[in-house]
Amino acid sequence: MARPSPRAERTSCPLPQLPASVYEDAFDLAAVGMAILSLGGDYLRVNPALCRMLGYQAGEWGERSFGWLDHPDDPPIFLERLAEGDPTGADVERRCLHKDGRWVWVRLHLSVARDAAGAPMYVVSQWVDIQNLKQAREAVRASEDRFRILVETAPMGVMVVDAEGSMEIANVAAQHILGFSSATPGSLAGHLRAISWRDAETDEALSPESMVLDYGPTGETARGRSVRFRHPGDATDRWATTRSAPLRGPGGRIDGALAVVTDATREQMLVAELARLAHHDVLTGLPNRRLLRETLERAIDAHEDQPLSLLLVDLSGFKEVNDTLGHEAGDALLREVGRRLRSIPRDSDLVARLGGDEFAVLLPSTGHAGAEEVAQTILRAIRAPIIHEGRSVEVSAGIGIGLFPEHGQDASTLLRHADVALSQAKQGGGGIGFYAASLDENSLARLSLGTELRTAISEGQLRLCYQPLISLSDGAPVGVECLVRWEHPERGLLAPSLFVPKAERTGLIGPLTTWVLDEALRQQQSWRREGINCDISVNLSARSFHDEDLPATVMGLLERYGARPESLTLEVTESVAMEDPEQAIAMLQRLGKRGVRLSIDDFGTGYSSLGYLQRLPVHQLKIDRSFLANIMADAGAASIVSFIMGLGQSLDLEIVVEGVETEEVTGMVTSLGFDLGQGFYFGRPMPADALARWWREHETSAAGAMLSSLHGPRPAAV
Ligand code: C2E
Ligand code: CA
Ligand code: CA
Repeated sequence: MARPSPRAERTSCPLPQLPASVYEDAFDLAAVGMAILSLGGDYLRVNPALCRMLGYQAGEWGERSFGWLDHPDDPPIFLERLAEGDPTGADVERRCLHKDGRWVWVRLHLSVARDAAGAPMYVVSQWVDIQNLKQAREAVRASEDRFRILVETAPMGVMVVDAEGSMEIANVAAQHILGFSSATPGSLAGHLRAISWRDAETDEALSPESMVLDYGPTGETARGRSVRFRHPGDATDRWATTRSAPLRGPGGRIDGALAVVTDATREQMLVAELARLAHHDVLTGLPNRRLLRETLERAIDAHEDQPLSLLLVDLSGFKEVNDTLGHEAGDALLREVGRRLRSIPRDSDLVARLGGDEFAVLLPSTGHAGAEEVAQTILRAIRAPIIHEGRSVEVSAGIGIGLFPEHGQDASTLLRHADVALSQAKQGGGGIGFYAASLDENSLARLSLGTELRTAISEGQLRLCYQPLISLSDGAPVGVECLVRWEHPERGLLAPSLFVPKAERTGLIGPLTTWVLDEALRQQQSWRREGINCDISVNLSARSFHDEDLPATVMGLLERYGARPESLTLEVTESVAMEDPEQAIAMLQRLGKRGVRLSIDDFGTGYSSLGYLQRLPVHQLKIDRSFLANIMADAGAASIVSFIMGLGQSLDLEIVVEGVETEEVTGMVTSLGFDLGQGFYFGRPMPADALARWWREHETSAAGAMLSSLHGPRPAAV
């Protein structure tokens, strides 16, 4: 093979004849290291760049020969073989010994210079320092390794697809969660297409592509999506959340996507269980008051032209059974009554236990005559003796009936009127009573609350009561919830349930909420001046929460009273937050940005979807008190408790337990690790001056208790 001679190469580039010194300058001024070697490996000449690279003076190279700098692990290079035409070693990366003893990575090019006849004359070498390049490559490899291990071992599923949706990577967790194995042939798109996907929130069908290629048009990371699907492995319903982001190639072009999938099945099951617990009575398994109310509201909405009857059933003689035969007998009796009631009406009817010895039956599409007939059957069924542990027990009942639409056009009115009918029936010695307006002379329903309420706000008839929130870990008070009352000139102190819903309907809620916020912040400022530093919580109704001006109002008041935004918590109920989640998120973000703390009230009653819950920018969850009652009664609810704790921890939320009424419950919720407690056991809602006294007492006693638990009993003061 004819090798081009160096001279031939040179003449191929037509340059003017230059003096030989120019070539010497080029050699000496080159930025890369250069050396001319004899075929025997002697250094004939080295340039300054090479001297700098390896730390030797020009004069020091004379005694050396090629190879003396070699690392023992790098293969030797034989110049004679190179001269014979063997290219091995002509272009290699290797380590060279620096004069100071360290190894320097270089890229070495060797070329043999030949005379006109092609005979080898000497070797020209070029040395490029690639130390930095080498380190950068090493770093990339190490980081790739780390990421590979991370992806392989991560508990969440990770999938990478190319722009066509073919799978490049699906880690073990992804295969496990979505039910395919890496051994199954086919693209990721194929696997995903084999499953039918639904949006967990809206139940809409989703395209398989949207599982991974779901990012915005400009390529921003998609907000997480909750999906429901049937697992190909065991055909059970599963829930997962996915979040995808585009991957960009050279030039910023999107050439694939990465999706992260987390299994949310367990959480979803627990959320459903939570909702069930919140809507059922543990003792009898029947729907509770809340579910009755919700069903009643829905039934009224759905059948405006159909009659509907609501029966409230109250036992007589139950208390005696409880007192003489004990709680167990009482519980057994209630369960049996529940069973009998359940067996009477049709499937479409609802039987609920409202608490204590009170039950309710909701009969859709049933008018006066039908309701009376069912009521008679119920009375007979309840009067039939109940055998408990060989003893025969007898109770009777009174039944109050409210009819829709004649006795009330909405759920609250109907419930209240059925209750009026029930008291009448019981006063009359049991039996059945229908509501009549004449029974209701003294009932609050007759107040024209609307117009009066307006006066109440402007004339200062509203009051705030303050109920303490306690840190469960040390018993110290941390804040108060502000609860509104109406000091009615004739009716006395009215509870919020009697006028807040009315205010909400009549548009008076705006002024009411502003009044509450103003009064709460004013009171907080006045306490602060007395040395009581107390965070405050204020309730927002649905209308106030959706009021566009709310953030501005809140900020104005915070400023007026010089309050830190973090010292104010706004509470909205879970159902309000879930009504229009997107809007709720936007509003919570607007408020949260200003530093105000946000809380989800009555948590556990609103059927939250987990996906939304994770996206709500809130600081606190308040567990509804009905839920706490159920937990105490239901041993199986432990998993729910641990779920809520886990949820709180993973979302970094403070958890408040409401409705703590006994020492026993306090012990339980404290040992479970809840953060804050609120309830009659710690303190009832009280007026401002009473709260100040309470606070002083408990602040010091809590601090004392904490100190003595840390340091043993404190020495008595002398
Ligand atoms: P909420 O926000 O759940 O407030 C807690 C309610 O539970 C209060 O009733 C409180 O007195 C009661 N409570 C506290 N501890 C216990 C306990 O240990 N056992 C029992 N059985 N109950 C306990 P209250 O003051 O009658 O308020 C009822 C509801 O009225 C509040 O429920 C809240 O939703 C609403 N509300 C109160 N003030 C306002 C307000 O200023 N604005 C709005 N929009 N709603 C308010
Ligand atoms: Ca509240
Ligand atoms: Ca609450």
